[in-house]
This record gives sequence, C-alpha cells and structure tokens, in this order.
Amino acid sequence: MSTTPSAADAAEAAVAAIDNATAKDGSFSLELNQDQKDVRDWVHGFAADVMRPAAHEWDEREKTPWPIIQEAAKIGLYGYEALGQFYADPTGLTLPVVSEELFWGDAGIGLAILGTSLAVAAIFGQGTGEQIGEWIPRCFGTPDDVKVAAFCSSEPNAGSDVSAMRTTAKLDEAKGEWVINGQKAWATNGGIADVHVVVATVDRALGTRGQAAFIVPMSEAKGITEGTKVSKHGLRASHTADVFLDDCRVPAGYVLGGMEKLEERLARARERVAQREREGGKHSTRSNVSMATFERTRPAVGAQALGIARAAYEYALEYAKEREQFGRKIIENQAIAFTLARMKTEIDAARLLVWRASWMGRNGIPFENAEGSMSKLKAGEVAVWVTERAIQILGGNGYAREFPVERWHRDAKIYDIFEGTAEIQQLVIARAISGIHIP
Ligand SMILES: Cc1cc2nc3c(=O)[nH]c(=O)nc-3n(C[C@H](O)[C@H](O)[C@H](O)COP(=O)(O)OP(=O)(O)OC[C@H]3O[C@@H](n4cnc5c(N)ncnc54)[C@H](O)[C@@H]3O)c2cc1C
Repeated sequence: MSTTPSAADAAEAAVAAIDNATAKDGSFSLELNQDQKDVRDWVHGFAADVMRPAAHEWDEREKTPWPIIQEAAKIGLYGYEALGQFYADPTGLTLPVVSEELFWGDAGIGLAILGTSLAVAAIFGQGTGEQIGEWIPRCFGTPDDVKVAAFCSSEPNAGSDVSAMRTTAKLDEAKGEWVINGQKAWATNGGIADVHVVVATVDRALGTRGQAAFIVPMSEAKGITEGTKVSKHGLRASHTADVFLDDCRVPAGYVLGGMEKLEERLARARERVAQREREGGKHSTRSNVSMATFERTRPAVGAQALGIARAAYEYALEYAKEREQFGRKIIENQAIAFTLARMKTEIDAARLLVWRASWMGRNGIPFENAEGSMSKLKAGEVAVWVTERAIQILGGNGYAREFPVERWHRDAKIYDIFEGTAEIQQLVIARAISGIHIP
C-alpha cells in the first residue's frame, strides 16, 4: 500500500487548512450576525404586516401617519433607544438593514418614521453631551405622545448651494438670546415637529464656515411658523413644508455645540481667512454644519432607496413568473428574465456600497473617496432604474394605481434629489478622488 498522499488527500488537506485559517481569522464577513438577522426580521414583520397594508391609503391621504408612528413607538421601533440600539452595532450594518426593511414596507411611511433621524444626527454629531441628553429624547416624545423632529437647512434660493443661505442668527447679548430670521424650504416634518434644528448664518464673511445649527423647539420659541405644505410626486405620507423664522428667539445655549465651541470655531475660521488674505490667496469658505450632517446620513439614505428597489424587484419577479402571454410566462422571454437578472445585480451592488460606507462611517474611517456619496448616488440611481423597469414588466398594471409599482417609482425619484442631488454627489466624489476643487 502506498504511503504517498493522493491528489484527493492533498486537496482535502488544503481545504482543511483554508477552513482552519478562516476559523482563526474570520474578521471579514458579509454575513449578518444573529443579532442583525433578528432585528432585520423583526422590522420586516412590522413593514409587511403594518406598513404595506397601509401604504396606499396614506399615499392617497397625503397626511402624516401618526397612528403608525405611534404603533412603531409602542413596539420600541420608534424612539431614541431604538435608534441608539441600531447605531450601537459596531459593524455599522444594523441601521442600513433596518432602513432597507422599513422602506421595503413603504417609503412615505418609512420617512415619516425615520425623518426625525436627520435632526437627531445633527444633534448627535454636533451637540454637547448635555444637549444630546436633553434634546434627542424630545425629538421622539413618548409612545403615548409621539413627536417628530425636523432638520431645516434648505431655503428657496439655497438648495445645492448652501453658501447662498440667507437665514441669520444674531446674538442679543443683553438678553442672552439668539434672534433668528429667515425662511426654510422643503423641511421634512417642518412645522409639525417640536424640535427643529435650524441652520443659520452667524458670520456671513466666513461663508459656510460662518454657519451654525440651532435647536428651535416649536413648543417654546415664538416666531417659528409653518409655511406652505408641499404637495409632492412621491413620499406623500411624509410631511414636507416651508418654515418661517420671524424674530424667533432661543436661549444662547441652544446653539449646537455650545457658545464656547462656536466662538472657537469662528475664531479659527477668521484666522484661516486672514492668513489666506495675507498670502494673497482665495480663501475657502466651504465645509459646514449641513454638509457634516448629510455626510453622516448618506449611507442610511442609500439604504432607504435600496428598500424601494427591492420591493419593486420582488414584485416584478413574482408577476413575471405568473403572467402569461403568447402561451408562456413572460419571464420565459430573455428580455424580461435578463432585465430581472440586472435588477437583482444592481440592487446587490448598491447594497455593497451602502454597507461599506456604513461600516466606514461607524468605525471612523474617513471617506477619502467620498464613499458615503458613492453609496447614495448608486442606490438612488438603482432605485429609479429598477422601479421604472418594474413598471415595464407589469405593463399596463405597472402604470395603474391599484398596483404598488407606480408608487414605488414615484417614491424612488427623490433619492436622486434630496440630501444632495445626484449631480452634487458626483461633484463631491470628483473633488475627493482628484483633490481638485472642481466648481
Ligand atoms: C421631499 C423632500 C424632502 C426634503 N427634506 C429636506 C429636509 O428635511 N431638510 C432640508 O434642509 N432639505 C430638505 N429637502 C431639500 C433638498 O435637500 C433639496 O431639494 C436638494 O438639496 C436640491 O436643492 P434644490 O431643490 O434647491 O435644487 P437646486 O440646487 O436648484 O438644483 C437644481 C438642479 O441643478 C443641479 N445643480 C445645481 N448645482 C449644480 C452644480 N454645481 N453642478 C451640476 N449640477 C448642479 C442639481 O443637481 C439639480 O439637478 C427636501 C426636498 C424634498 C423634495
């Protein structure tokens, strides 16, 4: 009997060595862990049982679905503890997984539930410990008295170009209060929120570096009112409105980060401007509080787009397997089957970008190539394309309101627009990869 190992033995040994190595150093994995799967399945249950059946009704009513937000609060899905738990996952994946499931359920209701998180991200990212402790719970209220929050950066003439912002905040030193004046546009939950985080210019000469964010609680501050509510193409269960600030006064300590930090930041910006001027160069007045908030939230917003895309893809797949024309299922035509193959591929590719950016963001890895923007750009474009293809696969039914696909298409389009349009994402990526300030 030969003692020389056969090729099969050698192959087996090699596989065992690989298995062994993987077991020892399995630090890279794209498989969700059990906790993540449990959270995903729990949120999926809520999305399937509560959100999906209500989606058409709230889209038609174009009203904030307070009873559903309340239901989410009652089961612990809406609230600062829930958001904190999702964010606490060190891999960064729970938040995008939850976002995808909620928006798979319905995007309008999903945004009514998750819209608050934009204001929360600003408070969490820029607030002092005391501000975080006080204001984040107030953004959500309690299960018996739910609240939503709004982040107000955009203005009628300052959308992509945040440097064009006209809203000002002036310190009334005698009274120790900020006096805010201006008009905010497109604010999700604007006017129906209690906590509004309002971005305003404190020192115009410093451009966007002279801007700061302020807590403006509707229940306390006079001079903040809701303007026109926007009637929208999609996301119609989510409230969007103008917000007016007319000599609106808040205590000095309501500036996010506190007075001391603001003074330090402004002093640094003034010094930078003075130095550039001494050197005869043009000073950069970019990088600001709105951008800091959007950078943090973009991967989770990309995950929302993915949820809509997945809903449309799954629906179209099932439909194509059922619907018969010319004596066969329509999926038996390559034109349909290949489209579905590409839809699935694009969704999975976008998810990988979203997960990468979420993991990087959670672990403090700098977005050197604007990976946050990449994820949102790709996911937004995929959602628009996939939902449009889904309409095509359903034919006339895709275009009819009795079927959800046209709603998903209307909902998807916003992901090319808000939190930075597709063009602005490309600008951010182009600047990051080139190191050149492309105007
Ligand atoms: C449903 C909804 C909810 C929203 N929620 C909020 C919110 O909660 N808070 C908030 O602050 N804002 C919110 N917004 C505002 C949103 O962020 C802005 O609509 C977005 O930033 C684009 O600004 P704009 O609409 O003024 O478009 P514009 O900036 O006027 O852009 C118009 C077009 O010009 C293009 N463009 C502009 N500049 C350039 C450039 N340099 N290079 C190439 N192309 C360019 C844009 O990409 C776009 O295609 C919301 C908007 C909507 C529709």
